[in-house]
Amino acid sequence: MQNPFEAEQIQEIVREGLAQVLGTGADSITPEATLVSDLGAESLDLVEFRYEMETRLGVALPKSNVLDQLASALGGSERLYDERGGITELAAEVLRRSAFGYSEEQVHAGMRPYEVAAAATSAHWAAFTHAIFDHLPENCTECGADKAEVAASGKAVCAGCGAVPEPATGDEVMAEGVRSALEALGLPQHAG
Ligand SMILES: [Zn+2]
Repeated sequence: MQNPFEAEQIQEIVREGLAQVLGTGADSITPEATLVSDLGAESLDLVEFRYEMETRLGVALPKSNVLDQLASALGGSERLYDERGGITELAAEVLRRSAFGYSEEQVHAGMRPYEVAAAATSAHWAAFTHAIFDHLPENCTECGADKAEVAASGKAVCAGCGAVPEPATGDEVMAEGVRSALEALGLPQHAG
């Protein structure tokens, strides 16, 4: 099943969800606004945002982050941090290749992990959430149809029978992104 959403549709849903969680107007949630520094989101808000996206879209946003997943893919974090605790060029490159779509200005070598977390904008979360729907099952488990569509409820449903197909989890999508970035960079991965 192909992704039935346009990127803009997900951007709008993410904005509405954030506005609700943060108790602010959707207008103040520009694509470039960072959740933590600009919008003042705290960790509990992010938990609520995850719940909001689960309710609205049926997606499970990741609980882990790219750096942790990269450390486990490489079997350790030695190559991810420099002696001052900033991220290395390798870590920055994998982050930029992730579905969040960070630019070179937004994520670069030498940033601290908390700065990377604080760099995430509503556009980054929308891009990641949209990418989750690139990971729908091949066929509907109820009727076998291979096409999804966006229902009036705003959720992705099977075009054949209306069942709600379950996409991969955010953690799975993130892990796959890390694996393919390492592969593209020609780096061997930790087995198991
Ligand atoms: Zn179906």
